[in-house]
Amino acid sequence: MKVSAFGEKLTKGAGILSLMDDLGNALAEGGKIMMGGGNPGHIPQIQELMRERLRMLVEDDQALRKLIGVYDPPRGDGSFRRALAALLRREYGWKIDEDNICLTNGSQGAFFLLFNLLAGKTTQGGNRKILLPLAPEYIGYADLGLSEDFFTSVRPRIELIGDHFFKYRVNFDRIDLTEEIAAICVSRPTNPTGNVLTAEEIAGLSRLAQAHDLPLIIDNAYGLPFPGMIYTEAAPVWGKHLVLCMSLSKFGLPAARTGIVIADQELIRLLSGMNAVVNLATGSLGAMLTTELVESGEIMRLSREVIRPFYQDKMERALARIEETFSGFPYKVHVPEGAMFLWLWFPDLPVSCRQLYERLKARGVVVVAGDYFFPGLTPGWQHARECLRITYAQDDKDVLRGIGIIADEVRSIFSNK
Ligand code: PLP
Repeated sequence: MKVSAFGEKLTKGAGILSLMDDLGNALAEGGKIMMGGGNPGHIPQIQELMRERLRMLVEDDQALRKLIGVYDPPRGDGSFRRALAALLRREYGWKIDEDNICLTNGSQGAFFLLFNLLAGKTTQGGNRKILLPLAPEYIGYADLGLSEDFFTSVRPRIELIGDHFFKYRVNFDRIDLTEEIAAICVSRPTNPTGNVLTAEEIAGLSRLAQAHDLPLIIDNAYGLPFPGMIYTEAAPVWGKHLVLCMSLSKFGLPAARTGIVIADQELIRLLSGMNAVVNLATGSLGAMLTTELVESGEIMRLSREVIRPFYQDKMERALARIEETFSGFPYKVHVPEGAMFLWLWFPDLPVSCRQLYERLKARGVVVVAGDYFFPGLTPGWQHARECLRITYAQDDKDVLRGIGIIADEVRSIFSNK
């Protein structure tokens, strides 16, 4: 079929599409330990709560009519946006109201709109880019730009911690905010590494953004105030030049497809205009399921007392298993400060991470090769070929068994080198 340049861009099978296909095929074959995807875990307490909320909505005639029979405005359900603005004013003193908030069909969709609103070809013939100041970064960004050469990213400093840990740090010396940069974007916590940028790093990026009159986009998909998957000290931040993207997915509602953008009112106006063109309206389900939790602040308590411990315990069990089984070869783990991933680094790995991925898949363990996660980085950094991302959100038994198989495979690769 003949397709447009736009069609080609979104279908050519790079990055996320081939990865999702491969993960999907591996899953369909059955019998695999799935440590590759980004699906959140199933938390019984959250599911029960949602069952109750759904029941209430379907039993109330007016609520049901709104749930299935009414288009929301393009910026999303007004009650939810008012409740969220009130919560953020109350908890953090942020000076925002519902006109600072736009809901989208998933935060992935929000990034598509936002990135292309800000970067790409300009009417003056220029080309503006999104700067990712710390690679590795979320693979889901990689194919969102409608023009070529859309991202530029920066190698971090690597801080070694003890024998087996490390942490990426923003390398401010390498950041060059040329005229072509349209916005800066970071995920915090970061997918794939579980890194949480420090308050100093966020303040540094924020200062740079402000000085150059650029938006700083902070992707809070796993962050604060909800779902709150952060296992270290961190506080959310707000300012007029910040764009905070949030999501209900990791709170346990990925199928409701609810993304949340908090930003300057002018940017929200533009974004909701784009949302109207592309989507007409935003789905109401996520907002209607959670408005009361946001109004009462219960969403923060659940994040703190249910969601965070659920993932933190899983992370600690996975880490203990790594310490127990990884011996006889060099390995390092990024300090797991948030989200639901462990980022493993095997210095001087004799094969590429793609080959390691294939070998693990053949043994029934599906992970993600690390080199996918460096969008916009000049190729050639050996480190990018030495890393793997594993997800610990799913069944503990599988995760622990999977880690044992990874240990066995990597040990055999190093001993046969
Ligand atoms: N940002 C990050 C860092 C993610 O990991 C994901 C999904 O895994 C998203 C954004 C998109 O999430 P959603 O579209 O479900 O809100």
